Amino acid sequence: MVKRTELFRDCNNIVVGGGDLDADIMFVGEAPGRNEDLTGVPFCGAAGKNLDKLLGSVGLKREEIYIANILKCRPPENRDPLPEEIVAHTPWLLKQIRDMKPKVVCSLGNYATKFFMALGKVEEMKSQPGISQVHGVVREIEIEGLKIRLIPLFHPAAIIYNRTKLTPLWEADMEVVKKEIRK
Ligand code: URA
Repeated sequence: MVKRTELFRDCNNIVVGGGDLDADIMFVGEAPGRNEDLTGVPFCGAAGKNLDKLLGSVGLKREEIYIANILKCRPPENRDPLPEEIVAHTPWLLKQIRDMKPKVVCSLGNYATKFFMALGKVEEMKSQPGISQVHGVVREIEIEGLKIRLIPLFHPAAIIYNRTKLTPLWEADMEVVKKEIRK
């Protein structure tokens, strides 16, 4: 039984996702921020601009991928998602994955990465390694009966705060993405 959380009650827009549902590649972020909450469009703020740049660096456009989030509503003050919110919102993400059947999932940041590394078991997310340890490393996972190549990437918002350190790492990780989407 999926519980309603305060997020559904308080958000302006439910941000379902956006892009090409027929794409082979899906990017999954954490949760909508202020701009996304106001517009209903995922990654339309500063983090989205960084994401567009990184996609562009490997010749990808927004319209050629699908972008979704772990949470579909903005947590108040952009706080971290709570486990019960992840439990309540991710059946929706799993349904998107079942419908879309992506071959590659790029998880953006710790929450999305840990969710996929724990194969959707929220109670096992805590014990998963952090993004700094696993970024850019491709692993095959099975989720919703589908074999998916998971590529963990730093969250594009992190670049805003740590551009010098993260830009070269992101660029190297995007080369991995480029290779995987050609397979
Ligand atoms: N950060 C996310 O993780 N998702 C968005 O949609 C916007 C910012």
